[in-house]
Formats: sequence, C-alpha cells, structure tokens
Amino acid sequence: MTEEHADETMVASMRADAERQGADDRKVTDAPHYLARVLMANGIRNMYGVVGIPVTDFARIAQGMGMRFVGMRHEEDAVNAAAADGFITGRPAVTLTVSAPGFLNGLPALLEATVNGYPVIMIGGSSTRHVVDLEEGEYEGLDQMNYAKQFCKASLRIDRIEDIPLAVARAMHIASSGRPGAVYIDFPDDTVAQTLSQSEADRLMWTATDPAPAMVPARKSIDAALALLRQAERPLMVIGKGAAIARAEEEIREFVKKTDIPFQPMSMAKGVVPDTDPHSTASCRSIALRNADVVLLVGARLNWMLSFGQGKTWNEHVKFIQIDINPEEIENTRSIDVPIVGDIRSAMTLLNGSLEEYPFKADETWLNMLKEASAKNVAKFETREQSDQLPMSHFNALGAIKKVYNKHHEDLILTNEGANSLDDCRNIIDMLEPRHRLDCGTWGVMGCGTGYAIGAALSTGKKVLYIGGDSAFGFDGMEVEVACRYQLPITFVVLNNGGIYRGDFENLGADGDPSPLTLTYNAHYEKVLEAFGGKGYYASTPEEVERMVGEAVESGKPSFVHVQIAQYAGKESGNIGALNPKPVVGALVDSEVTMYDYATGARM
Ligand code: ADP
Ligand code: MG
Repeated sequence: MTEEHADETMVASMRADAERQGADDRKVTDAPHYLARVLMANGIRNMYGVVGIPVTDFARIAQGMGMRFVGMRHEEDAVNAAAADGFITGRPAVTLTVSAPGFLNGLPALLEATVNGYPVIMIGGSSTRHVVDLEEGEYEGLDQMNYAKQFCKASLRIDRIEDIPLAVARAMHIASSGRPGAVYIDFPDDTVAQTLSQSEADRLMWTATDPAPAMVPARKSIDAALALLRQAERPLMVIGKGAAIARAEEEIREFVKKTDIPFQPMSMAKGVVPDTDPHSTASCRSIALRNADVVLLVGARLNWMLSFGQGKTWNEHVKFIQIDINPEEIENTRSIDVPIVGDIRSAMTLLNGSLEEYPFKADETWLNMLKEASAKNVAKFETREQSDQLPMSHFNALGAIKKVYNKHHEDLILTNEGANSLDDCRNIIDMLEPRHRLDCGTWGVMGCGTGYAIGAALSTGKKVLYIGGDSAFGFDGMEVEVACRYQLPITFVVLNNGGIYRGDFENLGADGDPSPLTLTYNAHYEKVLEAFGGKGYYASTPEEVERMVGEAVESGKPSFVHVQIAQYAGKESGNIGALNPKPVVGALVDSEVTMYDYATGARM
C-alpha cells in the first residue's frame, strides 16, 4: 500500500465512521488514539522510542492501529533512528520519550538532527502541567517545552485534545520545509487523559498540505550563476548533504554530464553522483579546492569542513555561487558572488534548462590535471588497502570490507562512525547511490551509528552495514539488542584497536591506571550481539574480514564482525588532528610516550 493510498483510506474511513455514527456523540476517542490516527493520516509510519509514564499506552495503541513501533534502549538512539528514517525517506519519523530524564536523553540527538537538517518529530510525555508550573515537586516534573526550545526548530505543546491535528500539521511543516530539522511536541499527562466525541474528532481532522514545498529560485540568480561559470577556467561543484536531502541526484547528474564540471562530494553527499564518476575529485580534494576559481556550492555550508571558505584551502581569488534553501546561510562566513536561494532540485532544473541557451563546458586541461592527481592518490591508497600486513591497519581491514560492499552497494546502506574508522572508511569505500551513507555529520559526533543503522534498516527494508571504531561503538552499543529483537538485517563491524584514536597511549602518571584514551584491546565485541541471539565473528586477517563480513551481509540477519586491528593503528583525532590544540609546555611534551607508525608498526 502506498503512503498516499494509506492516507486517503484513513481519512475516508474516519469520515465513514462519522457518518455511521451520525449524531451519536456518546462514542468517544482519547488523546493517544487520536494522536496515532493523525500521525498516520499524515503519512508517518514509524515511531522509535522508549516507553514509560505517561506514554506507554500511546505506544501500545499506535502499534495496535498499524504504526511500526521500535522499542529502543536509549532515547538518543531513538532520535537518531528517527532522524535516519527522515533523512532517507524525506518524511519525518517520530521519536517517543517519557518525561524528564527520557526527554533529556533525547535532546542531544534532537539538536544534531536540527544541525544536520534531518526531519524528525519528538513527542515527549510530560507531567501534570499545573503541578510542574508551581514547582510542587511532581514525579519527573520538568518544563520540557521550554527546555527543548534551543534544541530544535520549534517546541510545541498540546494542551487540548482538539488541537492534535493542528499540532501535527505544524510539526510536519516545520520539520520538513526549508532546511529540515527537528520539532518537539510536549504531550502532558493531563492531555493524554483527555477525550473527545468521535464525531467532533472526525470533524476536526485534517492533514498537512504540501509540507515540503518546492521553492523555486529567482531566474536572475540562475542567469548570473551561468554567466560566472562561463568565465571560469577551473570550475568546481561542491556537493553537500543538502543535495541528498533535496533528492536532486537526477538533476545534478544531468548537470555534470552536460557541463563536464568536476565535483567534490561532501561525506554524506557521496553517491549523489557515483564516486566512480571520472568527474569526482574525492581523491584529490586539496588540489581541487585550492585551484578552483569558481565554485558552485550545492547544499554545502561553508563551515569548518570547508575551512569557512577562507585561507590556504582555497584559491585567493575564488568566487562562490551558493545554492541553499535557507537564505540565512548565504554569506555567513565570507562574500558570495552569486547566491541562489531555493531548493536544489528546482535550481538544478533551471540551470540544466538554461544550458542550451548559455552553454558551458569545463575546460579539459583542468579536468586532466585533476584526473592525474586522483590517479596518483588512488594508487597510493590501493597499496595500503591491499597490504597483507598483520596485525591489520584500518586500511587493509577496510580494503577487505570494500570488496564486500562493492558486491551489494545498491542494497546496502552504510552507517559509519569513529575517528580513523570514519575518515578512512569515507576515503576507501566508494558510494554509488545517494542517501546510502550516514555518518557523524556536521558536528562529527560519536554515538549515532547504531541508531542510524536501525532507522535505515527499518525505513527501507534494505541491509545495513555499520562500521565503527571500538570507542564510537561503545556510546550506543546496546542497540544491538534492538537489531536482534526486531531481526533487522544489520551487520555491525567494529574495528578494535583498543582505544580512543588508538590503543597504545601510556599513562603519564604513576597510579597504574590505563591512559585516558585506553579501552580494552583483548575484547570480543561480537559477543555483545551473541548475547541476544545474533551471529558473531572474530576476524584478524584481511581474508577473514572479507569472508566473514561477506557471510554476515549475505545472511540478512543481525550479525557482528569484530575486526582486530593493531593497537597502534590510527592517528590521534583521525584526519582532524589540527583541531586539537596541543599543550605547548607540560607533561605531554616532556614525557616519553611510545608512538608507533600506524602504517608500518615501527616505533617512532
Ligand atoms: P555538508 O555537511 O555535506 O557540507 P551541510 O549540512 O553543511 O552539508 O549543508 C547542507 C545545506 O543544504 C544546508 O545549508 C541546508 O540549508 C541546505 N539544504 C537542505 N535541503 C535543501 C534543499 N532541499 N534545497 C536546497 N538546500 C537545501
Ligand atoms: Mg579505537
């Protein structure tokens, strides 16, 4: 059944119910039933949460009425699962939390979803309003709506059952339109207990109309962009995750084909145009950015990841064209020569359409220069990926996983977190499909990957491959129980070097404790999943990695491959070590810390 079909059926059946009832107002609905009906009528299918007072019945009722409810182990992961669902499907999913602590647990991920631009609606059960407001000491009493305000696009409260359709419609519009993001809806126990006559509920019923409307940019901004591109000697398109959110892959691929423009994919935009496309500059990023003279930003912010559009990363005279749906994003770090404010699909359609009149082709010398630079780097990477060095590094372990990924790419979504496990995986594994890679995103956070994996598996029915470091996995590892309980086709792969960044740092003091960066090197992470009935594997050679990850993915069942890599594999802070201020004087500088080269294992 399609979503549209389901919505129509739902509204029609409610109307029919109303007719059957006629004036019989003795039949009532209650807030949990009504809320579930309204969410479903708005096309929301999936709810991820942790139940408890006062929303346990709401979850049971929603499930009974046909919503998919996934009982998670932590609210942060529940929000991440809903955010992944929203990112992939383009329609918000719901997170459900209990009052105070459950609600608070969800807030970091709520903010992350907003920062990243993923549509999600978090519904938080809360305690009796008037008791909370007079600070009488209510059970889990907290003014949640006001706390949530700084963590999402909008924080709303339903005080009256008859406002449920309005609250959901508001949430749909705010979460989905413009730059998508999170909406919080407070659902206090006094509202949970309210009832309404069925006929009145049906009469008040409505659903959000076009919550994610196209926003067509001004014609003159398109003309100005093409005029600037035609003057460029070394044009470059930077594709950001806004393009994935906009579902603009077809239009962007057409533009690349027609203009030969080289492109640099941001991490979560990988696959909008396949990484294997010869126009990709993924393997020669710094050369592409440093030399480009006109840059077309397509749904990518000039934030820290792009050095704020300033400094040595970029050509001194570079000019920017920026396509973004959010006008406030324009010129937030530097001047922009041509802003195009609108949605990417509309913008790219207009650009493509104008190419006949104003043809533009990227220069061949520029393209060849980039291709040569790419080829050199690819060769370097391949040597490391194919190395049979033991114990393994991130490179040869990921090189083995890549072989499995390439066989399944269309049907396999990747979620990826860690420091080196993130950076090296992004560089090594090519993405061919849009919205098939979910990672630490705009903030580079850890603890998102297992929640994303669950949301990705549930919302698509596709297989999911989680790749994380031992540190990243530890934040939200308990969600493997959810994967087993719901029999989701997720393979978890943890690259274990026994530490944060790497496992060989020494304690600089005399207390004999492990270093602050140390985790358990002689671990068996696969046993965490085995405890819940999933299948575990332990791999310590590239051959075992390929065979075991291959078998696990093929099985389509919850599975876990522990990949043991060298304790000295990895760099502190991964590829963003420059962001980590180093003490100029003091213990770290004066002390002897044994360091090994991650590639060769040699003592440095
Ligand atoms: P990345 O991290 O991949 O560089 P960012 O998250 O920094 O990407 O930037 C994505 C940008 O895309 C945001 O500024 C957001 O407003 C914008 N965006 C999101 N959806 C759309 C859309 N449908 N059309 C245009 N811009 C969009
Ligand atoms: Mg580690």
